[in-house]
Amino acid sequence: KAVKPEKAAPTPAAEGGVEISSRERLIFPDSRQTKGDLADYYAAVADIMLPFAGHRPISLVRCPQGRARKCFFQKHDTGAFGDAVHHIPIQEKGGGTADYISVKDARGILQCVQMGTIEFHPWASRSDSVDKPDRMIFDLDPDESVDFDSVKSAARTIRDRLADLGLTSFAMLSGGKGVHVIVPLTPDHSWDAHKDFARRFAEAVSLVEPERFTATMSKTKRKGSIFIDWLRNQRGSTAVAPYSARARSGAPVAAPIAWNELTSMKDAKAFGIGDAQQLIDRSAAKSLAGWGFAEQGLPDI
Ligand code: ATP
Ligand code: MN
Ligand code: MN
Repeated sequence: KAVKPEKAAPTPAAEGGVEISSRERLIFPDSRQTKGDLADYYAAVADIMLPFAGHRPISLVRCPQGRARKCFFQKHDTGAFGDAVHHIPIQEKGGGTADYISVKDARGILQCVQMGTIEFHPWASRSDSVDKPDRMIFDLDPDESVDFDSVKSAARTIRDRLADLGLTSFAMLSGGKGVHVIVPLTPDHSWDAHKDFARRFAEAVSLVEPERFTATMSKTKRKGSIFIDWLRNQRGSTAVAPYSARARSGAPVAAPIAWNELTSMKDAKAFGIGDAQQLIDRSAAKSLAGWGFAEQGLPDI
């Protein structure tokens, strides 16, 4: 008679197949959230995050001792993460080649979390075609004196001007201070064309309303206005991934929103790592169906 095999007891520390050590470590001291809470969050949202963060070079914001201690921005693979964190050799400006980091699945994300990662920042191009960008990001960076209502209307203005050019765009709360306006693009143009379009668009918008917008990074020019950070759109630049947690007070996350929801948002950190289920439900709802996707090429203007 067949003996029933003993069911292996699940290791309490394992999450999505990855051992998470020091689950009790306080990563977000202000909101008392731990490394275990962060791992739970990423295990839950991995499936909705991977379409935006997977199969791309990514930079990581790592804070091994928590966000209140030293954090660093890591671009290159040091090989220490684990077997689900892949490296992609990429030609760098100087002529040399460097290994960048890329993940494909929940295990990859969680191996990064195990190594102290809080934030994920992908390139705007995929690992298999790094020289063909497929999303344009207008990162709206308000000067300190600018209130969130102005950021919201600025985002809508950017959306409308993009629509004038035939481009569909999507809004994302950054989890920090601003809103990102994201334009999915079919990857059939160069980084040069991509950056050039982004710069000319930002300059044109700010030229029409110089009190509201600036396209120059200079802090003094930004006074009282919103910097349309178009510099996310050059080779080697990154922007925070949809659903990435942020290494900021209260453990907020970068959250996709529908344009008609933007009006009711009171700041850019409306969602946090405690809201995984809500974010999953939202992503399946009609208002966010297809968020971040559109078949459209870069206009030839
Ligand atoms: P906020 O809404 O508060 O501005 P944000 O994510 O847009 O949040 P920014 O300061 O505008 O933050 O940064 C834009 C992007 O620049 C980041 O999302 C990140 O990808 C990139 N970045 C941030 N820090 C570094 C760094 N140390 N080195 C290189 N790139 C960075
Ligand atoms: Mn920003
Ligand atoms: Mn910025």
